[in-house]
Amino acid sequence: MQKPLVAGNWKMNGLAASLEQIDLIGAGIDDALRAQVDVMICPPSILVAQAVRKANESSVLIGGQDCHAMASGAHTGDVSAEMLKDAGASAVIVGHSERRADHGETDVVVKAKAEAALRAGLIAIICIGETRAQREAGSTLGIVGSQLAGSVPPGTAGQIVIAYEPVWAIGTGLVPSVADVAEVHAFVRTQLEASHGAEGAKMRILYGGSVKSSNARALMSVPHVNGALVGGASLMAADFLGIVGAYR
Ligand code: PEP
Repeated sequence: MQKPLVAGNWKMNGLAASLEQIDLIGAGIDDALRAQVDVMICPPSILVAQAVRKANESSVLIGGQDCHAMASGAHTGDVSAEMLKDAGASAVIVGHSERRADHGETDVVVKAKAEAALRAGLIAIICIGETRAQREAGSTLGIVGSQLAGSVPPGTAGQIVIAYEPVWAIGTGLVPSVADVAEVHAFVRTQLEASHGAEGAKMRILYGGSVKSSNARALMSVPHVNGALVGGASLMAADFLGIVGAYR
């Protein structure tokens, strides 16, 4: 059995003062809950080192939101996986749909970033998911399958986490039906087993897209849903703890 992971993606939100939310999250997780679920916050890269210092006092893991594929070099404004690791991060999100859409990141780019994460000793949280048009065209599984084939490097269950995030559900309040989530997660599991064998059978597959405390329990109970990637509801500790508490 995988230990579930609930990871919060702050996106381009938060200032130093927001880090007190990490204290509050840490304080809201008792030993019993800590035994059930891993909890992570991915703040903007400029806050990662400070967040790690905060999180060291609690059980909250800290991750980055993106990394460059190279370890260092002439890439103004970019952050490498090695830099995130050096700052104390445990993981990095790659291939988020906002990166794919806003920065033209292809599966090839996402795979290179995931490989960089593994090289640096970080967990790669690799995001996949279909757009509304693709779902309406009935091509969800085809899209998800090709993103998996193109974005996920070889690796172990300890190194790779998949986040299935339907693009149309991100930040919209729209959530797929439990049956739709079950269908895609079962498909992702089958694909991972085919590509990564026994490790693929153990990899955590997160659901992301408008997860809230009110729907977390139902979504987290779906077979092959091994946690959540949470955007908006991760910004405030009370909201986020309501989601983590689904594993209590
Ligand atoms: C996300 O951006 O990864 C996400 C799931 O956002 P939200 O929870 O706000 O839909």
